[in-house]
Amino acid sequence: MSDPFNAILRALPSMDSLLAKGWVRPFEDELGRNAVKIIASEIMDELRREIIAGQRVEVEENAVEEEIRRCLEVRVKMKLKPLVNATGVVVHTNLGRSPLAREAVEAVASVARSYSNLEYDLSRGSRGHRGDHAEWLLEQITGAESALIVNNNAGAVLLTLSTLAEGREVIVSRGELVEIGGSFRIPEILGLSGAKLVEVGTTNRTHPKDYQSAITDQTALILKVHPSNYRIVGFTSSVPRNTLTDLAHKNGLYLVEDLGSGVLEDLTESGLPGEPTVSECVRDGVDLVTFSGDKLLGGPQAGCIVGRRDLVDRMRSYPLLRALRIDKMTLAALEATLSLHMRGSWSSIPALAMVTASAEDLLSRSEALAEKLKNALPSWRVFVKKVCDVVGGGAFPEHPLEGYAVAVVSPHMSEDELCSFLRGFNPPVICNVSEKALLFHVRTLLPGDEDHIERALVETRGDKG
Ligand SMILES: *Cc1c(COP(=O)(O)O)cnc(C)c1O
Repeated sequence: MSDPFNAILRALPSMDSLLAKGWVRPFEDELGRNAVKIIASEIMDELRREIIAGQRVEVEENAVEEEIRRCLEVRVKMKLKPLVNATGVVVHTNLGRSPLAREAVEAVASVARSYSNLEYDLSRGSRGHRGDHAEWLLEQITGAESALIVNNNAGAVLLTLSTLAEGREVIVSRGELVEIGGSFRIPEILGLSGAKLVEVGTTNRTHPKDYQSAITDQTALILKVHPSNYRIVGFTSSVPRNTLTDLAHKNGLYLVEDLGSGVLEDLTESGLPGEPTVSECVRDGVDLVTFSGDKLLGGPQAGCIVGRRDLVDRMRSYPLLRALRIDKMTLAALEATLSLHMRGSWSSIPALAMVTASAEDLLSRSEALAEKLKNALPSWRVFVKKVCDVVGGGAFPEHPLEGYAVAVVSPHMSEDELCSFLRGFNPPVICNVSEKALLFHVRTLLPGDEDHIERALVETRGDKG
């Protein structure tokens, strides 16, 4: 190797000198020394390769350190961590959907650190059934004969279709063949289950006769799917649930409904009409209803199946269930959340408390936050703004929630710079932007979040006042 190469290579900092730098310390605390070394060596190896290949004729020590620091920051940001959701979207899939109730968090911690009766029957002193109590609670709350819990709603739909319709036909309205959250597509799940999709109707209109004429001796069931965030407006019609159950039962078929969010209580009185509850579907004669545990149920990621006992029993002994089974921490959280529903303690379930928060309450909370921020940041523009919040998770898509946000404009940073700073704060703060102002929607803030927002904004000032 020629001398110029060696000279450049020698200019690279040594690992020891790098690890001795003061700025590396916080990264070591976050990631551990070995992880920092791996990330730093990857960058230095890449630089060495470029130097030897002649693609780089000089290295600046500062620039090398800067690049290493940038990669360490990216890595630290990838760690799973709590953050402040100031977006006003209650069930936000990218931000972990429903925050758990205190009772649910405590239940998780206690079964996680110890042994438990997960599959042990304490009355008989012998092997028991996982999920017994949570399933009993679901039956009581929904009025269904039987319930089964798996690890998410996609799994619940897959298990249902595989058990009841493998090798046979499933009829679905074209208006309900939706993609949800980018990765859940009914035609794909149907394909996986080994059932054959039979589409009926058109995108905007499906009539009873469309279903009727699609029924053959190969048909296993009719599937009704909650269209979630997807809405067709204008000249539309779909077949009411009870007409569908009659039609299915007259023809010896099952009606299965993927309800998506799974609203357990009627929220009409809180100003949220129009979403069928799980009990309503059961009462209307739907044979099996599936829904998520972490949308408006307000619990952990889980898939719930409720309905006819004979059908649920078939699913219990279907081998796929073993691959979809719920783990003990999730079960603990779900059981505790269902227990709150059973007691009627809805205000203890954060997602429900958030969607039912009154406009007056939100206004006074945003006024308090605005006061706090004005005092901390006298040179900033801070004001309360009326906004639209959303339930999220596919429920109540046509129903924006009347909400309030605190709008903030910095005298020395653009909205993009501010947002990027807030994402790197500990805890990160995620907010909306509108007309060059940052918007902190108060509906989705949890206790203590106002202080985090204040600290984060104050820290952006640096020495700039
Ligand atoms: C959200 C949703 C799903 C997916 O549920 P996961 O619990 O995320 O698996 C399926 N169907 C509908 C209608 C939904 O809204």
